[in-house]
Amino acid sequence: AVPLVVAVSTSLSAGNGLLIRDRAAFERARNLNAVVFDKTGTLTEGRFGVSDIVLLAGGDENEELALAAAAESQSEHPIAHGIVAEARDRNLTVPKASEVSNITGEGIVAKVDGDDIRIVSPGHLARQGKAIGHERLKQLEAQGKTVVVLVRDGEPRALFALADIVRQESKEAIAELKALGINSVMLTGDAKGVAQAVSDELGIAEYFAEVLPDQKSEKIKELQARGLQVAMVGDGVNDAPALVVADLGIAIGAGTDVAVESADVVLVRSDPRDVAAILGLSRATYRKMV
Ligand code: ADP
Ligand code: MG
Repeated sequence: AVPLVVAVSTSLSAGNGLLIRDRAAFERARNLNAVVFDKTGTLTEGRFGVSDIVLLAGGDENEELALAAAAESQSEHPIAHGIVAEARDRNLTVPKASEVSNITGEGIVAKVDGDDIRIVSPGHLARQGKAIGHERLKQLEAQGKTVVVLVRDGEPRALFALADIVRQESKEAIAELKALGINSVMLTGDAKGVAQAVSDELGIAEYFAEVLPDQKSEKIKELQARGLQVAMVGDGVNDAPALVVADLGIAIGAGTDVAVESADVVLVRSDPRDVAAILGLSRATYRKMV
């Protein structure tokens, strides 16, 4: 039988915008000491707009943008949506791309008008020994902007900086958790400079940057190995393994089905402040029972 306090708490949680999928995990929530947040789409809205274009080898802004949009028009990534929207806003004619394939967590590759077109993270190029030295890269990242590089037939042609909106509620969520004695950690595939800027804005003391999708769960294990009980909050397909490994997996309700299926608790309102509410509710519920 379901204990009365828990039954009450479940309906209470529904009223609070929480969907509890795994009660044992919810019970463990009262012992958490760290909460790991995915950046894009969780702490931020995950809606990117192109803010700056930097030409690296002459040429024309709109021509490079059209090429980038051609490749990105076949991607569902929020960065892709931002680039495609910018080309549309500028009324550009976007050529057709073929042989499009994703490099998960790093970028996209395609053929456009016979050229090899890649839109990739600066980190991806650095790992190949082709780091971008342009001073604007660091400046833009320090502003919290995500920067991707358009590479055409092996030659870096342009930087696209994309601005995302940090959720108003995120800062409060971090502060509320801190008041409960819980440290927040940010996890992102994005560059270090961007992670630093967003962490500073939100008051987050620790972050893991340039984490490839298949390494996200390893970072959770690292924290657990320090003796911490860890919750992970995420929205994307990439976050699913980390949600499973965490002591408490929390999915943003507006995220992907895969994330929701992998989570113990779902935030129906997609509000990061509800993470603190889970903890409070878990503590209140299970205090009454013992
Ligand atoms: P996050 O962890 O912030 O959700 P992802 O793992 O989805 O980020 O992506 C990490 C990085 O990979 C992005 O910041 C970007 O540099 C690059 N990337 C991924 N997909 C694309 C794409 N479709 N176009 C360009 N860059 C991409
Ligand atoms: Mg995400």
